[in-house]
Amino acid sequence: MKISDIRATTVTVPLEAPLLHSNGAHWGRFVRTIVEIETDDGYLGLGEMGGGGESAELAFRGLKNYLVGHDPIQLEALRFKILNPTASLYNNRTQLHAAIEFACLDIVGQKLGVPVHDLLGGKLRDEVPFASYLFFRYANPETGEGEVRTADQLVEHARALKRQHGFMTHKLKGGVYPPEHELACYRALADAFPADRLRYDPNGALSVEESIRFGKAIEDLRNDYFEDPTWGLNGLRRVRSMVDIPTATNTVVITFEQLAANVLDLAVDVILLDTTFWGGIRPCVKAAAVCETFQLGVAVHSSGELGIQLATMLHLGATLPNLTFAADAHYHHLTDDIIDGGKLPYRDGRIRVPDAPGLGVKLDREKLRRYAELYQELGGYTYDRDPGRPEWYPLVPNDRWADPAVRLTPSLR
Ligand code: MG
Repeated sequence: MKISDIRATTVTVPLEAPLLHSNGAHWGRFVRTIVEIETDDGYLGLGEMGGGGESAELAFRGLKNYLVGHDPIQLEALRFKILNPTASLYNNRTQLHAAIEFACLDIVGQKLGVPVHDLLGGKLRDEVPFASYLFFRYANPETGEGEVRTADQLVEHARALKRQHGFMTHKLKGGVYPPEHELACYRALADAFPADRLRYDPNGALSVEESIRFGKAIEDLRNDYFEDPTWGLNGLRRVRSMVDIPTATNTVVITFEQLAANVLDLAVDVILLDTTFWGGIRPCVKAAAVCETFQLGVAVHSSGELGIQLATMLHLGATLPNLTFAADAHYHHLTDDIIDGGKLPYRDGRIRVPDAPGLGVKLDREKLRRYAELYQELGGYTYDRDPGRPEWYPLVPNDRWADPAVRLTPSLR
């Protein structure tokens, strides 16, 4: 069996409402690149990568020179072909490798007639639990609905999601409004769902001192962990020394070098494994084994996925012996998906792990075409330039939470 062709198609899929991130970033729709790998014996494997456009499509096309003729089952050799130490100095191919690895695992599973989780050691659970991923949101510009800005709106949004999907863990993405406002919102969630678990993630936007103040103010709640409150292993280590909540990261432990550094001088208790950021499902399984050895926690991270990447998260989550937290997924914010049968459903806050051979998801060609056309029409997304917060950067001490963010929270003034 040999790879005979690699195709990449960039799509954009609308979200219910624009999601606000820290550092003046936001998502109004997801842009993803769908990768298809064909083999000489007629198999088709699917991969997915965040972002996209001409450069992503060209990058995958460039890899054809290396990979046509490669046997998809040779996954370690694949890693050295794409990520060998010298090539890695010149090209950051980790996420390209991830998408190719997904597709190769999909092909191998189909060829052997087994789901990907069987290739990873076999599943330990039939369903993976997920957290509600709560964002501050702008209203949908077309419907005027979906705004999440105040504590009341946040709780109402979380209640609706819990009713619809059954979530029992709630993650608040912060770093958008002043910490005092986000603290009030977080505590409102805790009041509204006293039996549920919580986690807060401002994407490293707080200073160490702000993080310590925030952390101490939520120590009494049912926190899973305090995710990237501030930037960097040294900052997280200082926060961890002062706050009685486990720390977590998906930003500064995403390589084995960083994982080793964290083991040698502990800063992070829970490592959030992202099948894209770590370069594939198998690197996440290997990292989870290191974490198991050193008794660090792990969870399944979401970097914004359509159904193909969601499938990789489900196969990973199904097989990790040391998974003790609900997974993250942006998935419920999507209005649609490009996989056959539409969005995978949540039941009681869980999604069923696919059992069909390979990743267990197939493309809906009509939707792939439709959302590729939408991408052609709308182009890329200025993720880091939120029109509502155009001057977020100045970083004047104590002023960085001021205008325009405060304008959006008039109740604070
Ligand atoms: Mg995070």
